[in-house]
Amino acid sequence: MLNYSPVKKVSVVVPVYNEQDSLPALICRTEAACATLGRQYEILLIDDGSSDRSAQMITDAAQAEGSRVVAVLLNRNYGQHSAIMAGFSHATGDLVITLDADLQNPPEEIPRLVEKADEGYDVVGTVRQHRRDSLLRKSASKVINHLIQRTTGKAMGDYGCMLRAYRRHIVDAMLNCHERSTFIPILANTFARRAVEIPVSHAGREHGDSKYSFMRLINLMYDLVTCLTTTPLRLLSVFGSAIALLGFAFAFLLVVLRLAFGPQWAAEGVFMLFAVLFMFIGAQFVGMGLLGEYIGRIYNDVRARPRYFIQQVIRQPQAVSQEDVRS
Ligand code: UDP
Ligand code: MG
Repeated sequence: MLNYSPVKKVSVVVPVYNEQDSLPALICRTEAACATLGRQYEILLIDDGSSDRSAQMITDAAQAEGSRVVAVLLNRNYGQHSAIMAGFSHATGDLVITLDADLQNPPEEIPRLVEKADEGYDVVGTVRQHRRDSLLRKSASKVINHLIQRTTGKAMGDYGCMLRAYRRHIVDAMLNCHERSTFIPILANTFARRAVEIPVSHAGREHGDSKYSFMRLINLMYDLVTCLTTTPLRLLSVFGSAIALLGFAFAFLLVVLRLAFGPQWAAEGVFMLFAVLFMFIGAQFVGMGLLGEYIGRIYNDVRARPRYFIQQVIRQPQAVSQEDVRS
């Protein structure tokens, strides 16, 4: 059985982008929820280049006497997931919980996450019950969730929900990933050994609007897919080869029929031109597929993710001492 020590200190990481109306309630409710834990805690608020009063409010909260709030201010807007990474790099707890600032994830759920992590899980995810978002977003999420389950084979019901808890070693592993665009729940899952999901309630946004415009959502979706897999590139080469094969076969057929039935049948050379064209198109698809394969490998190298992730090494004490003697 793996050794999971009980959680001593909890860090709550919250990315904040123009959330001045939600902040007072957020800080108050999160502190109240953490106070019931009976453990050490800190609340990291990351200002993601807000243009309203959020940065000032976060700074004030951190400077207050005896405050458990840590302010991390970014110089400009980098996006939710980069902001969370910035928070990770300053979190000191052995369990890190992420949360949205807009109070769509109730902070009151934090103790349940901690409890679950204590049972010995690396990652505690959540599934939003009665999700309060637009129909378009809910159906898009369904499609993506389904896709992810197909690709990873891991049944994680709700990747979009950011209320999640990660053990220290998972956070450290994520900090060791150097890719620019990332999708944290998926990244965490690639390092998790034991992950679990619990149902949590979900509220509508009370103040302001979603910070994701349609274009940003599309961008986020691409982040998610590319973070997960290079399968789309692989598909390019598979489909490309299939189309190329068909093209070659068809071109061959045209040539054979032309020889059998003569130039009249082949519309005086027009069909031969098509045959040549199909050959070229086929060759192009093969070329593109090949490029895709190279790009996929380059992408994996550029990301420089750790090649593997050792969670724990278990060794008898005498084995250690023998090695010590040898060295
Ligand atoms: N957020 C951020 N930077 C951004 C966009 C969003 O830090 O560029 C934060 C935002 O303040 C909120 C969380 O990410 O705490 C989720 O954003 P939002 O509620 O707008 O997303 P949705 O709930 O619509 O998915
Ligand atoms: Mg939200």
